[in-house]
Amino acid sequence: MKIHEYQAKQLFRKYDVPVPQGDTSTDRQGVVDIADKLGLPVAVKAQIHAGGRGKGGGVKLARDRAEVEAAADAILGMTLVTKQTGPQGRLVKTVLIEKGVNIKKELYLSIIPDRETASITIVASQDGGMDIEEVAEKSPERIIKVPINPLIGIQGYHLRQVMFGLELDSVLMKSFGKILRSLYTLFVDYDCSMVEINPLIVTEENEVIALDAKVDIDSNALYRHPDIVEMHDPNEDDEAEAEAAKYNLNYINLDGNVGNMVNGAGLAMATMDIIKQAGAEPANFLDVGGGADAEMVENGFRIILSDPKVKAILVNIFGGILRCDVLAQGVVQAAGKVQLNVPVVVRMEGTNVEEGRRILAESGMSLINATDLADAARKIADIVS
Ligand code: ADP
Ligand code: MG
Repeated sequence: MKIHEYQAKQLFRKYDVPVPQGDTSTDRQGVVDIADKLGLPVAVKAQIHAGGRGKGGGVKLARDRAEVEAAADAILGMTLVTKQTGPQGRLVKTVLIEKGVNIKKELYLSIIPDRETASITIVASQDGGMDIEEVAEKSPERIIKVPINPLIGIQGYHLRQVMFGLELDSVLMKSFGKILRSLYTLFVDYDCSMVEINPLIVTEENEVIALDAKVDIDSNALYRHPDIVEMHDPNEDDEAEAEAAKYNLNYINLDGNVGNMVNGAGLAMATMDIIKQAGAEPANFLDVGGGADAEMVENGFRIILSDPKVKAILVNIFGGILRCDVLAQGVVQAAGKVQLNVPVVVRMEGTNVEEGRRILAESGMSLINATDLADAARKIADIVS
């Protein structure tokens, strides 16, 4: 689960990681009041669950009252488009107003789980700031990685590896080392899947401060973090994903145009792979689950159809606990309720497949039958190409 920058900074404060003073507001007067309290200059920052805000106009530095008002007017209510929001952007309802700081140097620091080394890995660079993606692409040697065995935990030599790698000034080592240890502890305590600070800055006064904050928490661990659950912002939810969650469907919205209806997460991933191999792109991941009933199938179908990106649907079901006849029933039910305006390719095998085929054939729906998964992928790719 993602949280906002201001919420991540609340966690940082709890772990004694220095962040600028600040507060949030949803209206212009609030922004002005907070700026008055903090003293100028201030940074006004859009709070959305996506990075790249600075480049998209979602972070502005204001040096006087007029600039504070202008920044509030420009950012509150804007649809912020960044590299991470997709072309539709995200509506900004809240801004964080924080004290403007004098930046001497911008570093990059993150902690992520690394499956390859089965470790918690610290990633750092002395070329932090808004162009870190370019650094990773053009000069990857400027990015250092220090894996930490979670059973051993963070040790002095890890800290030194990071700090020497960053060519950090020796006067900064004590405060930097403390921050690194605290962030590692936060990462473990909160079952994070990412903690990222870009930029982690060094000020003219040689203070190390987290200027940005991104924290992602493993949703499977939310039951033991009620304080994080409370940070959930429904404004950031994908509408279709939220709708799917209501029906216990495992649904993830993607960028392509082939809607997928599959039972089993493994089969759903294999289906996406084979679609891609055939030259098409999936519009979603949908695992209706092993124990799905006709109603769940119907809801899944309806959610896929509500996505305007979808130009064709591939139903790929391996009938086991979810029998083919139950699936067919669900598809027919859905088609009776919503306008089926895109071609549907069906590949079905397993329990009660004959009965399932009969139900679909007698439904009067115009479906395209596939003999196997490869055939289904070819047919769907032909339709959308
Ligand atoms: P994003 O990564 O989404 O673009 P950041 O929080 O990193 O957003 O802000 C973008 C840039 O704005 C930073 O790299 C920094 O240069 C500047 N900035 C952010 N907060 C402050 C602040 N409190 N004082 C001064 N400059 C800031
Ligand atoms: Mg940033």
